[in-house]
Amino acid sequence: MRTIIPRRLGLVSILALVLSFGASADERKDLAFQVIDRNAQQMTDISDSIYYFGELGMQEFEGSKLLKDTLEAAGFRVELGGAGMPTNVWAEYGSGRPKIAIVTEIDALPGGSQTPGELARKPLVANGPGHMEGHNTHAGVASMAAFAVKQVMQRHNIPGTVAISFGPAEEQLASRPFIVRAGYFKDVDAVIYLHIRDTLNTGFGIGNYAAISSVFTFHGKTAHGAVNPWDGKDAVDAVVLMDMGFDKLREHLRPTYRAHRTITAGGIQPNIIADRGQIWWFVRDASMPAAKETYDKLVKIAEGAALMTGTTFEVKYAASAWPQLVNKTLAEAIQKNVDLVGMPKWTEAEHERAREFQKMHALPVVGLQTRVTPLGGRPQSSSSNDNGDVSWVVPAGSLNFPAAIPGVNAHEWKAAVFPTSSISHKGQVAGAKTLAASIIDLLTTPELIQKARAEFEVESKKTPYFSLVPPDAKPDVELNRSEMEKYRADMKKFYLNKTPRFN
Ligand SMILES: [Zn+2]
Repeated sequence: MRTIIPRRLGLVSILALVLSFGASADERKDLAFQVIDRNAQQMTDISDSIYYFGELGMQEFEGSKLLKDTLEAAGFRVELGGAGMPTNVWAEYGSGRPKIAIVTEIDALPGGSQTPGELARKPLVANGPGHMEGHNTHAGVASMAAFAVKQVMQRHNIPGTVAISFGPAEEQLASRPFIVRAGYFKDVDAVIYLHIRDTLNTGFGIGNYAAISSVFTFHGKTAHGAVNPWDGKDAVDAVVLMDMGFDKLREHLRPTYRAHRTITAGGIQPNIIADRGQIWWFVRDASMPAAKETYDKLVKIAEGAALMTGTTFEVKYAASAWPQLVNKTLAEAIQKNVDLVGMPKWTEAEHERAREFQKMHALPVVGLQTRVTPLGGRPQSSSSNDNGDVSWVVPAGSLNFPAAIPGVNAHEWKAAVFPTSSISHKGQVAGAKTLAASIIDLLTTPELIQKARAEFEVESKKTPYFSLVPPDAKPDVELNRSEMEKYRADMKKFYLNKTPRFN
């Protein structure tokens, strides 16, 4: 059937008519978008400042201080140092339910220092750490979106709470299980994971892998390797036997498993029987119960290795991560805002810059992404993110925003070239708008929260959450300290020294 559109009305006016229906939701989002456009510079000042801090996990002192100052000035209550981690930031505005939290991180990586905008390798500080995954952009986008939501809540008298959790040391999977254990998400109705990518998208399903990381230290008895080796008990022998024992187990594990290790103490010199040996393990699988089953066998193998060598050992929990359980109801809600906001309008110069970089590094020369990704399930990746734990205690959605160059892998210096560019800045605007609009929907649509919760109840019951953190374990706040302190003084020269203020 053909629809006759009167010439004078035209397509544009019809579109305007359609958009004006349900004005209140549109009005709220429009206000959020105006706030974000007005504060785009402040947002990217935050992200760019964090880039130059280049702080490793648990050492995010400058970054967490900047976020505390900025968000407090913007009217948020900010707690620094919660769950026993000095650089853990929890910020919130409002009161009561519904309570929606953004979950993200701001840590850099060792050796990632790079001069931003330089297409060839050129560290800012030789061997120094840097943002070769672009976590710096999370800081601006999360703060900006939360501020825009706050402005809308105030203007339209919307009840509830908007919160941001900046968890330390994502790159070492070192903080979220502690933040969950401390109860931060007990009264939260939904969370949205926020991450940089080369496109604007969301997704649902089990996103990645479970991981358990522990350090096994064996203690023996030293002796001269030639004069009285019979008096010695070799702790490095125990390490080697543990490694061999696990190799014998590999045949009998599920095809989905992963296990990798490094020997962190392997003796001093051959003629000294080592009284100390150490091996650090990662065990992973598609689900946490499966990973835990393998991990328990690993501990048994350590017992066997100790028995064979007459040594003793202790296990120190290092890190753990549940796979992300990403909620489909929340994905559908976020997708609507992905489609509403759309990809940034890149200039030809930006496309050309991306193509030049891709060509230079033998990557597919595709320029920048121009279309948002349609909603769909996503393949389960075998990497891990400790924010996974959160998704087993509260319904979690996920949002990626387009601030990176297609084809460039994170954890390589190449990913540190663009995080402060105009491409990143535009992508951050799109990310903040999509995030703010999604939080507004969650705060104002009780049915959405109920539906997400009902789905969560079904899915999470299949695999009830348990914490891998031993009851007496404390976060490793010394993590990366000496590495960071080697470079901090040289890095300080590049600090932007900005004081972003939202208005
Ligand atoms: Zn990341």
